[in-house]
Amino acid sequence: MKSIHANLAELRLQIRDIAVRAGRAPEDIRLVAVSKTRTLEEVEQAIAAGQRDFGENTMQDALTKIPALHATDAVWHFIGHLQSKKAKQIPGHFGWVHSVDSVKLAQKLSAAMSDSSLPQPLNCLIQVNVSKDPSKSGLDTEKVAPFIDQLLEQDLPCLNWRGLMTIGVQGDETRTRVAFAVLRGMLERCQQTFSLTHFDQLSMGMSNDYPIAIEEGSTIVRIGTAIFGERA
Ligand SMILES: *Cc1c(COP(=O)(O)O)cnc(C)c1O
Repeated sequence: MKSIHANLAELRLQIRDIAVRAGRAPEDIRLVAVSKTRTLEEVEQAIAAGQRDFGENTMQDALTKIPALHATDAVWHFIGHLQSKKAKQIPGHFGWVHSVDSVKLAQKLSAAMSDSSLPQPLNCLIQVNVSKDPSKSGLDTEKVAPFIDQLLEQDLPCLNWRGLMTIGVQGDETRTRVAFAVLRGMLERCQQTFSLTHFDQLSMGMSNDYPIAIEEGSTIVRIGTAIFGERA
């Protein structure tokens, strides 16, 4: 198996090539290295190779790594389903949450952020279940606009709404491309409808579908296997 360093170098080249071919600026695409189930040593290798953004999908796994790496300038992204009772563990550990899908969670995150009195607001993405897969979390597409209406009625000063997140359809490139295009259209409509100043991010694309995601406008790709190898 190739080293994490070599995998990252190759992946960065791929992302650059695909972006340029799609007429996009490569620097508009943020690579989140999904380190769930990986060891601290593997994360350290990725950091040594210049990787800065990391993604975790459970709090338990994340908390074995993030505090141990406190001296780095790594930025952590929570990408899994988040129970609102765990929201208080986000501040000080994570800079981004990709999976907000309830008002209750948003309220808990905001309260946790204001208790922590951190200077930077938390970057939040709304997860959308575009493909209506019952095994995935996220809002149905038609619920997104009403959800943002509800968020804007709340006083949530510590949350910075940054955009939308979705997961493609495993093993189906056509439906995955449609899902990504739908998410991009939804982001554009939300930008026109709501006054959200930094709502410009699309978190979509994993190891097996990131080329499609970049072609369809992704600004954040979440990639594990192509960097760290197959998960056990
Ligand atoms: C695990 C995971 C990824 C990364 O998947 P790979 O196929 O290993 O690249 C991306 N996004 C989410 C939400 C995940 O849970």
